[in-house]
Amino acid sequence: MDSEIFIVGGGLAGWRAAEAAVRGGASVTLAANGVGNTPDIHALNCPVLPEDSVDLFIEDTLASGKGGSDRALVETMCRESLALKDEFSFDGTVIRPLGCSVPRAVSIRHAIGAIAVSDIKKRLKDKVKVENRTVTPEEVLALRAANPGLKIIIATGGWCGKYDFSDNPRYLKGDGLLMAEALGAALKDVDEQHVQYEPTVRVEGPRRGIPVITTLLYEGARMLNLEGREFLGDARLNKDELSRAIFKEGGYAIFDLTGVPDEKILECKMDLSERLIKVAPAPHSSLGGIVIDTKCHALDGDGKIVPGLFACGEVTAGVHGLNRLGGNGGTAAMVFGTIAGREAALEVNKDKNQ
Ligand SMILES: Cc1cc2nc3c(=O)[nH]c(=O)nc-3n(C[C@H](O)[C@H](O)[C@H](O)COP(=O)(O)OP(=O)(O)OC[C@H]3O[C@@H](n4cnc5c(N)ncnc54)[C@H](O)[C@@H]3O)c2cc1C
Repeated sequence: MDSEIFIVGGGLAGWRAAEAAVRGGASVTLAANGVGNTPDIHALNCPVLPEDSVDLFIEDTLASGKGGSDRALVETMCRESLALKDEFSFDGTVIRPLGCSVPRAVSIRHAIGAIAVSDIKKRLKDKVKVENRTVTPEEVLALRAANPGLKIIIATGGWCGKYDFSDNPRYLKGDGLLMAEALGAALKDVDEQHVQYEPTVRVEGPRRGIPVITTLLYEGARMLNLEGREFLGDARLNKDELSRAIFKEGGYAIFDLTGVPDEKILECKMDLSERLIKVAPAPHSSLGGIVIDTKCHALDGDGKIVPGLFACGEVTAGVHGLNRLGGNGGTAAMVFGTIAGREAALEVNKDKNQ
């Protein structure tokens, strides 16, 4: 390997890491076998409104995680998210994901994930060596053995693609967890309890597997059971509670959008003819993964840094606890991607100066 940093994963976390690493003066190779879930990030959390604050953002994230989040990681993400305000020209729409006390999710044309990555690729043109391929744990192990000074950043996303009915691509099956384990890192919360279901995934038609966005429940949408009875009333539950409510009704529901204004439907890039949609909960986000500290170093079972190994984005554990607040997947990938790349480059420079 002739690069100083090897990044596995070409979603938002991987590309943010690449940009920060290049900015830090390091040479980078990035390998990826797809785009991951990043093109689905339509909005992400950043406390932009006067009634919002970093403290409220932290409070909402910890409450959503139901005691399972790592406070230091949550505080880092929420604090560092403020810098996104200066970095991006958000388009002014601020939506309120389920579980947020106030509107907080910002975007650019409802496509912040795709736009952010495409802009980074333009800025980094020719500055990063890109390999379009699948990386295996064996390869990573061999690379480490052959290049002891190489910094490796794992940004392979979650594992929900391994389920038959999921809204993730099939290739997102948790390969990065095996890579991290092979290199001596500890994993946490890698179990069925730490799989977040998207409550409202289409089960029929050409768009099967694509979710209907739950924020429409704040815009006049209703949830009906298959007999046509509304079962939520005024309750506006977080995603986890909504999935459980649908399972209680037999596992399926009708997302009734007849009361939602046309402009809200169009804002969500939906077809106006789609008003009664059969949906079911499907595995959507994995919440556990590689144990990291606030600088994205991977940690071993004793809490010690695994030298030269970093991880960021959905492949890591600790931020989301037992339930990810809507909009926090993108924020975590943005913030921790940058931290991982920056810290890896700092270590490269430190090695050079020794
Ligand atoms: C339908 C849907 C809608 C969503 N909407 C939102 C939203 O609006 N807001 C929000 O904040 N979050 C949203 N999320 C969550 C968000 O998409 C993820 O949290 C985010 O994409 C994680 O970024 P990442 O870079 O860690 O992983 P990903 O974007 O999934 O990227 C993972 C990368 O790793 C690569 N990879 C994996 N294994 C290998 C391997 N063995 N070899 C090489 N490459 C590999 C993949 O090809 C990919 O490039 C949504 C998720 C889904 C499924």
